[in-house]
Amino acid sequence: MHMPTHERVVAVTGASRGIGAAIAVELARRGFTVACLTRKGLGVETPVPAGLAGRLLSVQCDVTDEQSLAQAFDRVAREAGGLHALVNNAGIHVESPSNQMSAATFEQVMATNTIAVFSACRLAYPHLLKAGAGMIVNIGSFFDRMGVKRNLAYCASKAAVGAITRCLAVEWASKGIRVIDIAPGYIQTDLNRAVLESGPLHDYLKRRIPGGAPGAAEDVARLIGALLAEDIPFLTGETIYLDGAQGIAH
Ligand code: NDP
Repeated sequence: MHMPTHERVVAVTGASRGIGAAIAVELARRGFTVACLTRKGLGVETPVPAGLAGRLLSVQCDVTDEQSLAQAFDRVAREAGGLHALVNNAGIHVESPSNQMSAATFEQVMATNTIAVFSACRLAYPHLLKAGAGMIVNIGSFFDRMGVKRNLAYCASKAAVGAITRCLAVEWASKGIRVIDIAPGYIQTDLNRAVLESGPLHDYLKRRIPGGAPGAAEDVARLIGALLAEDIPFLTGETIYLDGAQGIAH
């Protein structure tokens, strides 16, 4: 079943700012109806290009709360006429030396980056089934296969996103539901612009990223927009790295 973009409804978690906001705007630009699931319920909090606001629906949702997720999906299906795809973008990043990190901090990172991804997939499932097919895009990270100092919880949480993606892709393929993990490398957003534009991390990345500079939120957004629009039936279960080849560079 291949439906035109303007007939499809996509829910994006953590759409308030950063990569999530860019994904929501790009999907709206392509004609999708986009449900922006955000903690404040104010939708995309960064400027939205003229003419796109009508395709964006603001829905309050804390992804770590299953009841909140279930209510959000029900509302989207009711108000937008169904749910055809989900982008699990909401995530947190906590840095701590591993010997000083509490189990509570580890659990907090897993709750948002991993368990919420599972819960959102599980709770979106009946809606995707009802739609006859569907696609889930999980946002992982190229840290999923790296050893990164002070990033144990984050790396573990994103490796688990790859595993969740593979398991659900296999389990739900017969239902026409496809699951993809997009694993970005360093992406510049408003939040990290200062550290990525100057200082030690800037110098390090200039050496480490083969192209010499981080990616943009729009790079991630355009890849997801293209994947959702093309709707390629045989593509599922994969982790696609979008890191300017940093992860494979010698
Ligand atoms: P930001 O910190 O800029 O944005 C994170 C988003 O997640 C915000 O919209 C935030 O909402 C939302 N969020 C956090 N917790 C919750 C929650 N409990 N419920 C609902 N929403 C929540 O991050 P980025 O845009 O940089 O990252 C987006 C995704 O991309 C994350 O999964 C991240 O791990 C991943 N990623 C980012 C990379 C980068 O270099 N930037 C690299 C690789 C992966 P609120 O406004 O309410 O805080």
